Amino acid sequence: MNNPWPGLIGRMVGSMIAVGLVGAIFNQLFLFLFIFTLGCLIWQLLHLYYLERWLREGIPADPSCPRFLRSGAVWQWLYKRFMDLRSRSRKRKRKVSRILKQFQTAAAALPDAIVVLHEDDTVYWFNGAAQRLLGLRSVRDIGLTITTLLRAPSFVEFLSSHNYEDSLQLSSPINDSVMLSVRLRPYGKKRRLLLATDITRIHRLEQIRQDFVANVSHELRTPLTVISGYLETLRDSDHPCMEQWHLPLQRMHQQTHRMMYIIEGLLMIARLETHAEGLPQKPVAVPSMLAVLAEEASTLSGDREHCIQLEIDSQLWIYGCEQALRSAFSNLVFNAVRYTPAGGRIIIRWYADAQGAHLEVEDNGEGIAPQHLSRITERFYRVDRDRARERGGTGLGLAIAKHVMNHHNGKLVIVSRVGVGSLFACDFPLEYCLQASCWQSMKELTQELN
Ligand code: ADP
Repeated sequence: MNNPWPGLIGRMVGSMIAVGLVGAIFNQLFLFLFIFTLGCLIWQLLHLYYLERWLREGIPADPSCPRFLRSGAVWQWLYKRFMDLRSRSRKRKRKVSRILKQFQTAAAALPDAIVVLHEDDTVYWFNGAAQRLLGLRSVRDIGLTITTLLRAPSFVEFLSSHNYEDSLQLSSPINDSVMLSVRLRPYGKKRRLLLATDITRIHRLEQIRQDFVANVSHELRTPLTVISGYLETLRDSDHPCMEQWHLPLQRMHQQTHRMMYIIEGLLMIARLETHAEGLPQKPVAVPSMLAVLAEEASTLSGDREHCIQLEIDSQLWIYGCEQALRSAFSNLVFNAVRYTPAGGRIIIRWYADAQGAHLEVEDNGEGIAPQHLSRITERFYRVDRDRARERGGTGLGLAIAKHVMNHHNGKLVIVSRVGVGSLFACDFPLEYCLQASCWQSMKELTQELN
């Protein structure tokens, strides 16, 4: 359709001139022009009113041009433009809803649960797997806060932590035997995606592996203790025929001890992995523990004469499992002695700041190359297997330290440079810190009250 404006303006000007001429004939030029302008205004206002009503009342499925719009080229033109826009938007809508349907079919076929959450954690949308794994029910649960549907305290804490890096393992709210790995991802404008994967099989295999290692270690402990006892007796025997066996017995005894250390280490990791909640928790006097460890480290250093420095906050205790903490700290301190050349410097720091309590073991030893750092806390991972064995390592020290830190909701951080040295830091959260004096006065008060 051609642009109707030039025609309209032409017609208006022509009509105005004609009305002006008639007005001039009757000597009422301004009155005639005023009446003409008022008439035009009323006519246009009426059309505007009809148009607004036509839009308000909803347009029929196949609308023919309403009568009031047929009376002017501009109004007809507006009608045409409007209908074009409407048909284009309908096409776009059909396309979007086709894509949406395809997306929903694909999302429904996914084995993982997907839940779209609003900023206030209310449920906006979820797929079929979310019904199967999380027990969400369509329509009824849309708009409800997710924590009213998934009430596990660990999930509530995870949701409020805004942690988008890690995942949370929890059992399905509708079936205890189904294990889920839950992750959160931010997207769009303050929305979040909750993804839950069924990891029951992996979890079961992991449990079988853990139980196997724990059972084997446990079963080996008794025969090894017996062998070690007999070897000790034979080694200490001063019967003349045993003299030639003295050295082999000494070696055998050392190796059985090494095996026992390995088994103790594996059992400690198994306990931290499987029965962590059963480990005794109490206030631990870390300063005195570290003082004893420093003395033991001096003995281990022997004539290699390392310089071992203690920088300790003597008032700082933490709440945790004493046995596990001792094991973790001793592994870090003894490693520093093992992997630092004679005469090297080892600093043990224990302090607190706004983030929590920190143990740091720093040495100026051989250091660790960057490619090993990501795997160094795995069980039996060694930078140099022969050298580590030669220095009396079991290959479990750092794995134990990592598990102990996980158990205390903390982190093991390793910074190292080859030829410069290493720093092993155990970072504990603030809620695990205790002031020795406060704890003592609390204990005294409790005793008095009892
Ligand atoms: P190991 O019993 O063999 O020492 P760990 O798990 O304690 O086992 O340590 C793993 C490896 O990390 C060691 O074999 C060693 O190569 C390296 N390592 C640990 N501590 C240090 C350190 N302070 N300096 C240099 N290398 C270290």
